[in-house]
Amino acid sequence: MSGTAVNISGKTRLFGILGYPVEHSVSPGVHNAAFRHLELDMVYLPLPVKPDDLGQAVAGMVALGFVGANVTIPHKEAIIPLLDELAVEARLIGAVNTLVFREGKVEGHNTDGAGFLAALEKEAGFAPQGKVGTILGAGGAARAVAVALAQAGAREIYIANRTPARAVELATHVQRELGIPCRGLAIAPEDLRPVLRRSDLVVNASPVGMYPHVDDPPLIPTGLLEPGCLACDLIYNPSETAFLRGAHRRGCRTLNGLGMLVYQGALSFELWTGRAAPVEVMRAAALAGLQKC
Ligand code: NAP
Repeated sequence: MSGTAVNISGKTRLFGILGYPVEHSVSPGVHNAAFRHLELDMVYLPLPVKPDDLGQAVAGMVALGFVGANVTIPHKEAIIPLLDELAVEARLIGAVNTLVFREGKVEGHNTDGAGFLAALEKEAGFAPQGKVGTILGAGGAARAVAVALAQAGAREIYIANRTPARAVELATHVQRELGIPCRGLAIAPEDLRPVLRRSDLVVNASPVGMYPHVDDPPLIPTGLLEPGCLACDLIYNPSETAFLRGAHRRGCRTLNGLGMLVYQGALSFELWTGRAAPVEVMRAAALAGLQKC
């Protein structure tokens, strides 16, 4: 198989991404590139499904013999009651981004947190064990990051959010489930200053700074960051956000969200195929897809 075309045979195995909308997703390009690279007789399709049709869509995928799928906005939480089995990470995060269809049963997994950890370790050489992490934001991505850091043995986790009650709720959940000291707080410089001073890792898990709002100021003044810490933005478009630019000027190491995007896909691929994912092929396809956005 070569070029960008996908070969379809009578035995082609089916995969796809369930979301609404899905037309801007880079996942079809990423997974089809991986299938082509390994010459697997598999195809990955965009599957736009409206919220009211989700149950029918999942039943249809079982009937059609789908092998696996990704799940994205707005279905990541709504899909949980439709599943036969839920993996531990997905239960802890409270959301599913990967389905595995096995013997008529549907399993829900979440590879976002493990993808984040893989990016930290492989691209920044950062191991969270014994470290202090601060997360800005308390939405779905922040949940995955908080659970992942706690599972990886972080010493303390702080979650700062525009709506402090959501940060406190997430911190309470993580501390109760995983036993790691975790505190929720408001995004207020006076509260954040002592927290950031002791943070080895600061993660922007909010959409602030994402294309097209690239000139919006970061959620926190980057002058509060401790020089030498790792500043990570889950945003991958633009590749360098105002937060990362400010962090770099402050003397921090930086990491954008492309690695998390690639590794969560690689981990889904490995769950479905049992093969080592061709990560660099997937990264190149993700970058090519993002350039078209
Ligand atoms: P979400 O569930 O909608 O949560 C958004 C969070 O950001 C909330 O805590 C929200 O605060 C906060 N927020 C939003 N706009 C804000 C603003 N103008 N000022 C202050 N806080 C604001 O979104 P998500 O799914 O977690 O995604 C968050 C970011 O992560 C997005 O940029 C997304 O693209 C990125 N992401 C990247 C990857 C990857 O693979 N790299 C994966 C997932 C997500 P409130 O609670 O106060 O509303």
